[in-house]
Amino acid sequence: MTIKKEFWKNKTLSELSPKEWEALCDGCGICCLYKIEDQDSGEIHLTNVACRFLDEVSCVCKLYEDRKSAMPTCVKLTPDNVAGLDWLPDTCAYRLVLNGKPLPNWHYLISGDPNSVHHAGISVLGKVVDESFINMNKLEDHVVEDLNEQE
Ligand code: SF4
Ligand code: SF4
Repeated sequence: MTIKKEFWKNKTLSELSPKEWEALCDGCGICCLYKIEDQDSGEIHLTNVACRFLDEVSCVCKLYEDRKSAMPTCVKLTPDNVAGLDWLPDTCAYRLVLNGKPLPNWHYLISGDPNSVHHAGISVLGKVVDESFINMNKLEDHVVEDLNEQE
């Protein structure tokens, strides 16, 4: 089955076919970064530490089909849970469609170029460290306010 042009414009998330659902992801990789929850406030803080299964060059999962068994804490996005995942970036295509907003010009479905998410500086490319190379007991040292405003 082929995907219709601009399929996301006239459908809700739950109306997307499995193929359309997968196609909607912009490939930014931000959802594969570790987050820390403040025990007191419940606030979620983003870190620049990436899951060890994230390919830091392509910014996609190396074990996508088996991600839940490989990484039990991996959160699989579904039409039912996107609204409750406050830590997804504002740029996340699932969030945008959920909120009736247009996809940005750098989304590959608009630009036609899978690399435009990297060229626009939206993806995690060049901004993160693999969890295997840091002390995970000191994850708080890696909290970033804005991934795009690191040194
Ligand atoms: S944040 Fe959203 S758009 Fe970006 S990789 Fe994750 S699911 Fe895809
Ligand atoms: S297992 Fe894959 S999809 Fe899940 S957080 Fe890690 S890199 Fe991302």
